[in-house]
Amino acid sequence: MNFDLTLEQDQLRDAVRALGRKYGHDYFVTKAKAGEHTTELWDEAGRLGYLGVNIPTEYGGGGGGITELAIVCEELAAAGCPLLLLVVSPAIAATVIAKHGTDGQRKRFLPGFADGSLKVVFAITEPEAGSNFHRLGTVARRDGDDWLLSGRKCYISGVDEARYVLVVARTEDASTGKLKPALFMVPTDAPGLTRSKLDMEILSPENQFLLYLDDVRLPADALVGESLDAGLPALFAGLNPERITVAAMGAGTGRYAIERASEYTATRKVWGGRSIGSHQGVSHPLAHAAVQVELARLMIHKAATLYDAGRDLEAGVAGNMAKYAAGEAAALAVDTAVQALGGAGMTTEYGVATLLGAVRAGRIAPVSREMILNFVAQHVLGQDKSY
Ligand SMILES: Cc1cc2nc3c(=O)[nH]c(=O)nc-3n(C[C@H](O)[C@H](O)[C@H](O)COP(=O)(O)OP(=O)(O)OC[C@H]3O[C@@H](n4cnc5c(N)ncnc54)[C@H](O)[C@@H]3O)c2cc1C
Repeated sequence: MNFDLTLEQDQLRDAVRALGRKYGHDYFVTKAKAGEHTTELWDEAGRLGYLGVNIPTEYGGGGGGITELAIVCEELAAAGCPLLLLVVSPAIAATVIAKHGTDGQRKRFLPGFADGSLKVVFAITEPEAGSNFHRLGTVARRDGDDWLLSGRKCYISGVDEARYVLVVARTEDASTGKLKPALFMVPTDAPGLTRSKLDMEILSPENQFLLYLDDVRLPADALVGESLDAGLPALFAGLNPERITVAAMGAGTGRYAIERASEYTATRKVWGGRSIGSHQGVSHPLAHAAVQVELARLMIHKAATLYDAGRDLEAGVAGNMAKYAAGEAAALAVDTAVQALGGAGMTTEYGVATLLGAVRAGRIAPVSREMILNFVAQHVLGQDKSY
């Protein structure tokens, strides 16, 4: 058993940490409040190769795995810059194309993922289907060589920043029964694709959208993979990276909040010469949160290691557990940090309450804590499904 990162991974972590700190949480918050995106940070991270760490070298990437991408997600979040689009573009979309795209799709898209110049967002959630993907109602039908896509998607992050949205649909003849998904690369400016921005109570430079697909016409090569049979494995290929990287982002956010709070409580004095952190009523909750975050990091490390070793089934269990643990730990850490800072905790200046919405959402998305508990109950504990 080895808990150490390799030298290269260590160097990556230090370098990403330095980049994250150069921008910092104030930058993230200023952008979010202005309704702008973190373009400068994204572009610089792309130029430095951090957004393409998991892309094969033959396409200009770093040739690493999800372990490396999780390091990037965690360290940027630990610097106060949790970038949600890292989870959808390099983790989900790039993995799907790298593992299940055609040769042509790999050549066309992977170089852009490698340097971050291509952002692709991911659309699976639908208003009616919700957590039940078997009910997906977005339908793809053949029209000559083309495809026509119709349906609705909701809460889709980053559509306004992306060139493509990777849409999960089903074919017309597979509209009932078990999900047989078909994945499509849909240009965000495709005729028939419209969007409306959702008002979310999350301070984030990334926005969520409702998407309407009204007979969106796509060429045959918009279908991911050589045939419709590629759909299900392609969809599953994206799930483990999604869970692991979103967990890493949560762990990084937890670390950030605990660090901010610890700095504050070590120096703030309101009872004579003692710091408020000397009172165990203040320090123990922070220490408890630190334990939870560290436990989540261990699980993330395990999940990423299993995934990169090609042990997908075990990575599925570990990735779900890591996502659950990190989601809970991040929410606890931020809430505890806010409390430890008192009134300062609720200000923008001290930069912890600014994360409350994001960590709360992390217990719902991209997979809710309840659906993870269902997964563990059924697949680890052998319990029957109630739904
Ligand atoms: C900030 C944010 C960003 C997002 N970005 C994206 C994105 O980029 N792309 C995308 O496709 N989606 C995105 N989503 C959607 C997200 O993945 C869904 O919100 C999530 O999967 C839950 O689906 P739902 O909202 O339809 O909840 P529902 O399915 O309606 O569930 C509501 C509640 O009931 C619980 N529940 C449902 N079924 C069960 C059950 N069988 N057992 C126990 N509990 C159950 C759920 O856990 C949840 O708490 C985003 C959501 C948020 C909040």
